[in-house]
Amino acid sequence: MDRDPRATLQGSVNLTDQMQGPGHAAFQDRSRVLARKEERDKSHLKISGNLFIKQFLHLLTKRQLAEDIKTQYMEKVLHAVFFFGRLHKRQMRPNDFLEPSTLQTLQAKYPQSFQQYGTHLPSLTPYSILLQFGNEVVGCSTQEEMESFLREFNSAVQTAMQQQEHIMKPSNFIFRAAIVSYSFYREPQNKAGFPLFYGASLSCSGEAEREIMISILCLRTWHKAVAFAVYHGLDDLAIVFPDEVQCRAFCYSNGAFKEKPPCVKCKKMYHVDFQPSVGDTREDVQWPYGNCAENESLSKLLQGVPGLQEKVTTTDLDTYQSIEQEFASKIEASFRDQLIKLLQKKNFPLPLQFFEPQ
Ligand SMILES: [Zn+2]
Repeated sequence: MDRDPRATLQGSVNLTDQMQGPGHAAFQDRSRVLARKEERDKSHLKISGNLFIKQFLHLLTKRQLAEDIKTQYMEKVLHAVFFFGRLHKRQMRPNDFLEPSTLQTLQAKYPQSFQQYGTHLPSLTPYSILLQFGNEVVGCSTQEEMESFLREFNSAVQTAMQQQEHIMKPSNFIFRAAIVSYSFYREPQNKAGFPLFYGASLSCSGEAEREIMISILCLRTWHKAVAFAVYHGLDDLAIVFPDEVQCRAFCYSNGAFKEKPPCVKCKKMYHVDFQPSVGDTREDVQWPYGNCAENESLSKLLQGVPGLQEKVTTTDLDTYQSIEQEFASKIEASFRDQLIKLLQKKNFPLPLQFFEPQ
């Protein structure tokens, strides 16, 4: 059920508008523009959630999978989509995303997602759940395999988008990750090859939503060294990887993945062999520290290669142990406080609880 739209607008107006008062023409114009924008955003979120859930269901049904794997993934996807609906300025419920018959079937099968989207936090954004599925269930291990898996999903979503009553641009699809990245560690003594660790850029929209998600990821999901880099984004303290670590990013557009250099923020946070390393000269990027695909990818690499974390240092020449110590003494509490404040603004119930699929 929607809240009174005027209540939302009252919360968004600035002081000048308040001084001019609701009767003022400029105030009314601004209110109308804001109301239209919120309505448009809501409609994009609704279509994006609906299509993401349907395509994910399709992924699950076309494969012979154990029932518990299906349940685990579907619960996570449903919960994450509903959670972003809950955070939206015009709060949404599961029935905003799903037609009555689909809703009934899914609710009977995956009740936990329906019960906990308004009380528990997700550990990943929808597109990162998709990457995890591609890696852990489908078994994509090479760049070709992963790109073909993602391309298939992206183009199915795009086709479905074109069949909507109101055609939506691909860039308005909220749960898409425009950028994916992988990193690997070319271990000197390992001749057998090295696994690729894929990450996606933050697939959600809205400034508060992004900040909430980055706090969750730093607190709960990502490796402590990545949380350290995000925390120190503003003060030039970076983490340094061994020379054998490489990180590559790709931008998805019109069915193809194109190589992409890191942004100014990623270059500041991570001293790592980025390939390609130069090319993005923008200085005033709008996204927050922690938004890019490189964060998730480097985090998975650190979590997935035994012993690698001990080889990471900071630009102040501190060891990995000192990163862990600072995480425990300061960084963890800081992300927790920030998350609590952001959730309070959304009237999200506390204490912090995380969604655990069955
Ligand atoms: Zn970046």
